[in-house]
Amino acid sequence: MSLTFRPSQFEVDKPLSQLSTFGIGGPARFFTEVQRLEDLQALMSYCHAQKLPFFILGKGSNSLFDDLGFDGLVILNKIAFCHFDWPVVHVGAGYSFSLLGTQTARKGWAGLEFASGIPGSVGGAIYMNAGASGAETSMSLLEVTFVTPEGKIEVLKPDQIEFSYRFSSFQKRKGAIASAKFLLNPCGSARKKQLNIIDYRTRTQPYNEKSAGCIFRNPETHSAGALIQLSGLKGKRIGGAEVSLKHGNFIVNKGAATTKDILELAAFVKEVVKEKTGIELEMEIRCIPYRVRDDVSS
Ligand SMILES: Cc1cc2nc3c(=O)[nH]c(=O)nc-3n(C[C@H](O)[C@H](O)[C@H](O)COP(=O)(O)OP(=O)(O)OC[C@H]3O[C@@H](n4cnc5c(N)ncnc54)[C@H](O)[C@@H]3O)c2cc1C
Repeated sequence: MSLTFRPSQFEVDKPLSQLSTFGIGGPARFFTEVQRLEDLQALMSYCHAQKLPFFILGKGSNSLFDDLGFDGLVILNKIAFCHFDWPVVHVGAGYSFSLLGTQTARKGWAGLEFASGIPGSVGGAIYMNAGASGAETSMSLLEVTFVTPEGKIEVLKPDQIEFSYRFSSFQKRKGAIASAKFLLNPCGSARKKQLNIIDYRTRTQPYNEKSAGCIFRNPETHSAGALIQLSGLKGKRIGGAEVSLKHGNFIVNKGAATTKDILELAAFVKEVVKEKTGIELEMEIRCIPYRVRDDVSS
């Protein structure tokens, strides 16, 4: 395969704070954007050959970068086509998941109404198996086009991928999701449902503040937000990080928060919730270390 980019095209020291909804993170040693499948393949092969650690970034709405940044190549996925071919929508991994949810609901297609308001990319939603209002990304997924670290293309059906609550087996392997197909259903009330979801989100979540969504996974029988509220932690602050007054499971950056502030506050919340309720919370957001181990996915 011929390389369609030159490493000299990489930007250096790109501030990751500009690329995450938390507004936090030091610089990426190297940074590039990718708009085409062929370029993604070439980049994967290049990183593999050069043993260059890489991180695939969608909209940065579930990622907490290190204060030191990332010692490797950050690849911003901007493969953002979208083809509607009833009852299937074929979409690039860099496409906005929220927009996809709104557009499909407007057409009266049901299955992705919950995506409306989730500020991630399609690739990030598949990787995280994002969900809300009783639905998850995997439920309407038809297939995923994945690029392996060697630059090869795999087209995977849902039964070839493990999915569970906020988990997909992409979290256990290196490579990049390039695009996906979703299979939807006709439904007269899809638009109404999507509007109700957006209304609920804006009433209950700190939408106008800098965050990465829910910090903790919901334990099996409880809501993490309710446990945090019960433990009297809403409004608790460390440095520039604060437990949202609007939703206990959101930590917000009040202006100049650092990753250290966020992690210290999350650790404090975890400790107090454990002490008061006996329940151990687990992080949902992805904490991206400055240096990644070579044998694990970022
Ligand atoms: C206000 C707010 C509300 C939210 N509400 C919800 C909600 O209701 N439900 C929910 O589940 N989440 C929610 N989130 C969290 C977040 O939006 C989702 O997890 C979203 O799916 C992340 O997508 P992203 O593109 O931003 O991922 P990023 O943060 O860019 O990346 C997250 C992880 O996915 C990997 N990744 C991203 N794209 C690819 C790709 N193409 N190939 C391989 N790996 C990839 C990254 O490497 C990283 O490990 C919310 C966040 C915010 C800020």
